[in-house]
Amino acid sequence: MQIPFDNSYARLPDRFYVRLDPTPVAAPMLIRLNTGLAETLGIDPAALASPEGVAILAGNAVAPGSQPLAQAYSGHQFGHFSPQLGDGRANLLGEVVGRDGIRRDIQLKGSGPTPFSRRGDGRAALGPVLREYLISEAMFALGIPTTRTLAAVATGEAVIRETMLPGGVLTRVAASHIRVGTFQYFAAREDAEAVRLLADYAIQRHYPGAGSAANPYRAFLDGVVARQADLMAQWLCIGFIHGVMNTDNCSVSGETIDYGPCAFMDEYDPGAVFSSIDEQGRYAYGNQPRIALWNLARLAECLIPLLGDNEEAAKDALAAFAPRFQAAYFGGLRRKIGLQNQREGDDALTGDLLKLMAANRADFTLTFRRLADAADGDAAGVRSLFADGAAFDAWLERWRDRLAGEEAPAAAMRTVNPIFIPRNHLVEAALAAAVERGDFQPFEALLAVLARPFDDDPALALYATPPREEERVLQTFCGT
Ligand code: AMP
Ligand code: MG
Repeated sequence: MQIPFDNSYARLPDRFYVRLDPTPVAAPMLIRLNTGLAETLGIDPAALASPEGVAILAGNAVAPGSQPLAQAYSGHQFGHFSPQLGDGRANLLGEVVGRDGIRRDIQLKGSGPTPFSRRGDGRAALGPVLREYLISEAMFALGIPTTRTLAAVATGEAVIRETMLPGGVLTRVAASHIRVGTFQYFAAREDAEAVRLLADYAIQRHYPGAGSAANPYRAFLDGVVARQADLMAQWLCIGFIHGVMNTDNCSVSGETIDYGPCAFMDEYDPGAVFSSIDEQGRYAYGNQPRIALWNLARLAECLIPLLGDNEEAAKDALAAFAPRFQAAYFGGLRRKIGLQNQREGDDALTGDLLKLMAANRADFTLTFRRLADAADGDAAGVRSLFADGAAFDAWLERWRDRLAGEEAPAAAMRTVNPIFIPRNHLVEAALAAAVERGDFQPFEALLAVLARPFDDDPALALYATPPREEERVLQTFCGT
């Protein structure tokens, strides 16, 4: 079993992590291997699927070259600071530089207790493991920066949550696992040297251009701000709600990380919240950009000593978030309605559509997808999503006037507006079949559909259909 590990994080000082092997499980069984991702990483998928490979993916064996460790980090959880979180149920196995030249972390999640476990058991239930697999890979196919899933393994052990559930281990692949909370961990300990080392490391790994800037740390902060602003625009344009935007779940690489109670919305509602633990709606759909900025402010605070104690520099960096987000968001919306170039009045046009969608509880994904059909001349489908047909017709007329100057808008719209998203009711049904009946067919089928989110296929119409009233999922759970 050859995995070409090159472990740069393990070369950082001891206080960045605790070296620790995963805890073996009773009866590892491979549920799903991401062969395409294995190939990108330069790992032979057949070897990974062999008993020897599955033992590594379950944490029952340590691959040659792997230096397992649990990373230290802190985090603001729902606004409250926890000075010590850390990998309580994860082991970073190491890093590989893939065939594409990109360095990535390979991490096991659900791989046993660590010194950071607090009261947790260090384990993950199989349901949430499969959920992360489905949604992270869906996000990847949608073109959104995200961690990915290399494998899901069943442990043959039960985990105790509200009930007894089958256990699982997820192999997560990420640009890195450096979080805003990793910076906070050292800043909270007034370990200025570690903050600097971490910043230097993050610059080298994620923002190499910042290294040669006049002030590398300012350039680093600017870079993280820009990537988070872009990411929030992408989340909003696809109807994604992360659900737990704590600072420990905010990656400085700009990837979406930590798929807990996340959800895609069906009908458009700026206040949509699905997470059972988000009682105040802090992480509601429309709040996400504001929260990302709040998280970035926590990062900026950690970096102020590296900015020559210049608070104004930190504020200037944060001030770039709003315009960057606005441009990315309204640009994204514009492309969703088929407009390539910006003209006066476009933001009002997209904004008015969103208002109509909210008032009519129109399905977010279908509205934009069927608008492409309207660009081809068939507006009946999109119109049927709006109870107030007259109001929608008025908007449609404005849009058609504006669209007249665009070339082949329908085709372009179909490349940015997916037909298939991981709708909650489909995800829950696939997980229930897997976990309750050991039937992985619905999971496999959904995974295959979500790998091609923009390619319509009438045979798959059921996957594009919003839930019936009785199928609606009103709450999602992090399941930790
Ligand atoms: P999360 O909500 O998944 O982002 O996790 C927040 C923190 O809780 C992290 O430090 C996790 O490692 C820890 N944690 C979550 N679930 C468990 C568990 N079952 N056992 C130990 N630690 C956990
Ligand atoms: Mg987390």
